[in-house]
Amino acid sequence: MDYSGLEGRLIKTRRDFHKYPESGWTEFRTCSLIAQRLEALGYTLKLGLEVIDTDSVMGRPSENVIASNIQRALSQGGNPEIITALHGYTGIVAELDTGRPGPIVALRFDMDCVEVQEDMTDSHRPAREGFSSVNKGLCHSCGHDAHMSIGLGVAEILMSERDNLRGKIRLIFQPGEEGCRGAYAMMRKGVVDDADYFMALHIGMGVPSGVFALNISGYLATTKIDADFSGVPAHAAASPHKGRNALLAACSAALGLHSIAPHSDGAMRINVGTLNAGTGRNVIADHASMRIETRGETQEIADYVYSRAVEVLKGAAMMYGAEVKISKAGEGTTAEGSAEMMRISGETVRGLGIFAKVEDTVFAGASEDATWFMRRVQSHGGQAVYMGLGSDITAPHHNGKFDIDESVMINGVKALVAITERLMS
Ligand SMILES: [Zn+2]
Ligand SMILES: [Zn+2]
Repeated sequence: MDYSGLEGRLIKTRRDFHKYPESGWTEFRTCSLIAQRLEALGYTLKLGLEVIDTDSVMGRPSENVIASNIQRALSQGGNPEIITALHGYTGIVAELDTGRPGPIVALRFDMDCVEVQEDMTDSHRPAREGFSSVNKGLCHSCGHDAHMSIGLGVAEILMSERDNLRGKIRLIFQPGEEGCRGAYAMMRKGVVDDADYFMALHIGMGVPSGVFALNISGYLATTKIDADFSGVPAHAAASPHKGRNALLAACSAALGLHSIAPHSDGAMRINVGTLNAGTGRNVIADHASMRIETRGETQEIADYVYSRAVEVLKGAAMMYGAEVKISKAGEGTTAEGSAEMMRISGETVRGLGIFAKVEDTVFAGASEDATWFMRRVQSHGGQAVYMGLGSDITAPHHNGKFDIDESVMINGVKALVAITERLMS
């Protein structure tokens, strides 16, 4: 296996993605350059609408926003033909069929950035070394830039090893992981329906450099809710009784949501993150919009808190004679790693001898929509794992000062390649 020169390319690729971050469903430059590379390597590609079930899409921006982001992607070096072929939907499934019967092994890499401004001071390496984000308010502060670079490294090595493998390799490059928006629509399109094995990997996550985690556990099931209240505007002094106050309905809802009773079966979370309402000081507010998220330790608890939240929203609207439109802007579920696959990957990764420490299980405490793929694969008897690639980080995930230890990426490639080869040989 030839890893010479790969480490330098991994860093170069990661820094390029880092400089041009794109948020969920707008990863046009990113997606087109990944597709171009995979095609050049010899993979068979499916793009955009071929891998996204549009009826299941959540949290995608308006067509105007999509159009302006396509323009930005083109101006920043995106591949025009591939961007056209995406038909407005970012997402890639690349396949290598060895031509020999064997398992289908799917690997997931996420492509989106976080909506946070990157730190531009010299204390932050990307700024100091000239690869900080050129897109205002957007930053790869979760490490997905590294995931994509690792994914392309894995693609390259596995292609060079194809003669020693049997079965099919399927590389999934997913949009919109942040906010749990992209995986569900790809899962619903069937991209892992026939997969025997599924792997996803996250860098950092509180795990230091030199450590590899075989199983990230405890992802919370979550629903992201957009609630838009509409009432009736009226003069606040002359005819307040003719108005229907959407602002008060939303305020009541905010308090009601945060007082949903906890569940005795386990942890639950709810957060009203934003509330915007009204038009003017002397006008009864005729609209209010809220961005809410609910989470649960199990899918059942998450279902409980979500259904109570819907009741609170509807009840609050009714109380003020207002209307409320409720939509899902994202959703993730829970999933547990498959024991047998964890055993195989543990043996393989430990056998490589490149990590100072290999942990069995690390607790997540966040949410992740790769859980949809994991559940789907496990539901038809396949196996799935979600692993962690330790990296020292300079600030918490989703912080503008976040940076990774780039030297760990090469070992991420080696681990994924070794596990895949073990499953396919
Ligand atoms: Zn994140
Ligand atoms: Zn992430």
